[in-house]
Amino acid sequence: MQQLVLITGASRGIGAATATLAAEQGYAVGINYRSDTDAAADVARAVEAAGARALLLPGDVSTEAGVAAVFEDVDASGLELAALVNNAGVVGRVAPFTEYTTERLRRTFEVNVLGAFLCAREAVSRMLRQHAGGAIVNVSSAAARLGSPHEFIDYAASKGAIDTMTLGLAREVGERGIRVNAVRPGLIDTTIHASAGAPDRVERMAPGIPMQRAGTVSEVASTILWLLSDGASYVNGALLDVAGGR
Ligand code: NAP
Repeated sequence: MQQLVLITGASRGIGAATATLAAEQGYAVGINYRSDTDAAADVARAVEAAGARALLLPGDVSTEAGVAAVFEDVDASGLELAALVNNAGVVGRVAPFTEYTTERLRRTFEVNVLGAFLCAREAVSRMLRQHAGGAIVNVSSAAARLGSPHEFIDYAASKGAIDTMTLGLAREVGERGIRVNAVRPGLIDTTIHASAGAPDRVERMAPGIPMQRAGTVSEVASTILWLLSDGASYVNGALLDVAGGR
């Protein structure tokens, strides 16, 4: 039986690349997304083309009902949940600190922090019941250590919370055979920058990165898959920068 990896926010960007690579490495893939059904269906086709089973798992991870729906579908699949990639994330528009609205702050923390906690809670309870261990990778950001001044300090702080959750949960469930790690991507070429109102951000910032370029979704996906693999069997509670030296 294929082992299932559930990837939140897998309809595009880093999540979609992780879904395809996971399928190529033999996992069945749970493709969570919030709204873009067509894009998620394309990812499912790519997963199936790689010979793996694909589960389409719509649901807003920032709500209890959305997360419950995702995990009900996971349970109904009959597959064992071997891994979770907490990847779904949002960023507000680039703005000075004093202009962050309360609504924006709520959304940032509800999707990035509450969503990751709810999904990790549901995944860990299933992994404990299965007695087969498991692995979780949280997608944090280099922003957690940079702070993102003049851009989105709320986003950076939400990723700081993800780092702390990674450290605590790794230490809580390590003895039960569940490893919890985080990747901290730097500047990666995806549509998230346009959603921050800065579609030229990658082009503008790439020259300031030690490696003189943005990273690709494949470079993040391969790090995530390594952290999930037996090759990382003694890696637990790590915050792994994938940021070109930034
Ligand atoms: P992206 O291209 O904007 O994709 C975001 C994904 O998250 C989409 O699949 C979106 O689904 C999903 N999503 C958003 N809100 C959701 C919700 N409430 N419930 C379920 N799914 C939701 O982003 P990305 O650049 O690939 O980023 C992925 C992760 O990497 C995020 O956590 C981000 O913070 C992190 N990261 C990115 C960068 C970078 O430079 N790109 C750097 C550091 C960290 P829909 O399309 O259906 O809304």
